[in-house]
Amino acid sequence: MDGTWKVSVWGTRGSTPMTGKDFLEYGGNTSCISVDCKHRLVVFDAGSGLASLGKVLEKRDWKNRKKRVDILISHLHLDHVQGLFAFDLMHDKKAEIHLYGAREAEFEKSLRTLVGRPYWPLGLADFAADIRIHEIHAGESFCLADEETSQEREMSGMPGLRIHTILGSHPGGSLLYRLESGDKSIVYLLDCEQDEHMLRKLPEFGREGNLVIWDAGFSPEDLAKHAGWGHSSWRQGVELQRRARADRILMTHYFQNYTDSFLREQERLARLSAPACLFAREGMELWIGSRKQ
Ligand SMILES: [Zn+2]
Ligand SMILES: [Zn+2]
Repeated sequence: MDGTWKVSVWGTRGSTPMTGKDFLEYGGNTSCISVDCKHRLVVFDAGSGLASLGKVLEKRDWKNRKKRVDILISHLHLDHVQGLFAFDLMHDKKAEIHLYGAREAEFEKSLRTLVGRPYWPLGLADFAADIRIHEIHAGESFCLADEETSQEREMSGMPGLRIHTILGSHPGGSLLYRLESGDKSIVYLLDCEQDEHMLRKLPEFGREGNLVIWDAGFSPEDLAKHAGWGHSSWRQGVELQRRARADRILMTHYFQNYTDSFLREQERLARLSAPACLFAREGMELWIGSRKQ
């Protein structure tokens, strides 16, 4: 079976969802990107885009497999979790939803507070799905438990999925993720500011990744006015890609006020220095194959 990964963009926005004619091209939903790794579905962040993914998953043929989704949450700011409330799979008793977040941020306690009264009519335990919470220390690595037996895995030629984490520079902290299996890897670097520490850490963490998903929250000009907000710019992303020797970079998590015409201009400018760099749009799909492809 084909071991290619499919990356799908469901939400591209930071801070808050936006609607209206100025947000049609790049999209108005907050952060959510899924990766189909053969028959496993891994999701980076549960922003409002997760609701759109849920609509698609309702129609998916799961081929008698468990409806399992592993959601890696960078941090608990609302633009990264607000989609959980509208994720249809939460109401499906056949679904198994694994949520991962930082122990340092008291992930489980905070999430149980957020999803429940008075903020929401249902608590996490009230949903029909089997919801499992995993707390991770920043810096920890782990494998996503696999449904396959090791024999099946050997036959398919697919080693298990491995996740590495480091702490991002962001108010309250964030978890940055590296997802890898065999010769494929995706590095998810939201939300994170490029301070001295990250400048040293990130090239190694993103080393030769097939895809770097980058916090391009502010334009290079606006970034200077938002020091300490915990975000970066496409210019820093282009530089990181070069230093990490990563194959591709996908810019996302745009400041909520950036209109389609503004982002089109930023994309044009970015491509002058890095012709192959990508700006995320809702509905965009990318494929990750072997590095030799
Ligand atoms: Zn954010
Ligand atoms: Zn944040």
